[in-house]
Amino acid sequence: MPRFERKQNIFRNKDALGESYQPERIEERDEEIEAYMDALQPIIDGWEPNNIFLYGNTGVGKTAVTEYLLDVLQEDVTEYDDVDLSVLSVNCKTLNSSYQVAIELVNTLRPDGAEISTTGYPQQTVFKKLYSELEALGGTVVIVLDEIDSIGDRDELLYELPRARSNGYLESTKVGLIGISNDFKFREQLDPRVQDTLCERELQFPPYEADELTNILESRAEVAIAEDACETGVLNLCAALAARDSGSARQALDLLRLAGEVAENNDDPTIREDHVDQARSKLEQERVEEGMRELTTHGRLALLAVVSKAAKESTPCRTRELYQEYESLCESSGTDSLAQRSVHNHLSDLRMLGILSAKENRSGSRGNYYSYELDVPFSSAVDAMADVLYLDDEIETIRDIARMNGVA
Ligand code: ADP
Ligand code: MG
Repeated sequence: MPRFERKQNIFRNKDALGESYQPERIEERDEEIEAYMDALQPIIDGWEPNNIFLYGNTGVGKTAVTEYLLDVLQEDVTEYDDVDLSVLSVNCKTLNSSYQVAIELVNTLRPDGAEISTTGYPQQTVFKKLYSELEALGGTVVIVLDEIDSIGDRDELLYELPRARSNGYLESTKVGLIGISNDFKFREQLDPRVQDTLCERELQFPPYEADELTNILESRAEVAIAEDACETGVLNLCAALAARDSGSARQALDLLRLAGEVAENNDDPTIREDHVDQARSKLEQERVEEGMRELTTHGRLALLAVVSKAAKESTPCRTRELYQEYESLCESSGTDSLAQRSVHNHLSDLRMLGILSAKENRSGSRGNYYSYELDVPFSSAVDAMADVLYLDDEIETIRDIARMNGVA
């Protein structure tokens, strides 16, 4: 009997619901596209390009629209012999300084085998290498720096690059920067001189409304989902859930993909609304787990203290007792413990993140106090902590106790 079997009833092309798929059509962004085209117009006219700053929450089409428009631009510009356009795109997510972005750009421009090492040069040397590669390229160069907020305040490149021409580093090449950010605060935090140049043209993409998400999902489902494999109401439900939460097309598409997988795993022939509900809880859980991974050491230890109490079936548990548990975990891990007040702050942060829930208890003359318990499944909290904390023995003990008490 074969162990792998091809499943083909729900999806026609599952990749079309994935991260790297480029949609054939952009829905619902006519106004934004118009403003974007206007900002790109000088390129077609043969002038120096504008620098553009594009922002909006994650999943609102910033990357998709940029890729689409730059493809169109590259095609249309072939009509004009006097414009020689090149486009360079870099995602900065894993690059967290100007230095690293500049190296990435140099290496994108150099032929295979001629790449420079990612460490060891002074920053100005890397910038000069970049200018000489750009100068060698000539014509008009559009540089897209997607998820630019990850460079934080190490933003020197954003200051230098737009000035390379006036500072005499570039003669035959005209450069335009497109910076894309999920985080508007990034703009505020930029050096004012950088703001002036980078944000020459500012574009904002708002979150999508439910009906807009429905249209996006419908046109994607045509490509991705088999005919008649999606019951009525499913796309509307995915759109409504995503609109209520984030307005993100990515979230709506993720819900649809996961719901399809749930249906597939149950050998159901169609995607139903209850599959979407299951997909939603799955996504929520993933999000909480991600939140747990991003905690600081003391946040993690505070959470582990609650986990340990939960294994002993002693939650909800008061801050004072949790603090004792926390102190002993600090000791086991060789970490200096924080004062009780700070630990209390960590506990309320964990509550804000939806990882813990709290009850306020009244205790007469001694005032009110809080008691905490897990608001996520015990097993996902332990698993997440086991991945990030070096406390194997303690966590094994907690698991043993939980098993003894029948805590799932
Ligand atoms: P951002 O870059 O703003 O985080 P993306 O451009 O990556 O968001 O969009 C997230 C997902 O939603 C992608 O799969 C993209 O193809 C799709 N998408 C977003 N907006 C639209 C749209 N207006 N029309 C069609 N697909 C869209
Ligand atoms: Mg993006």
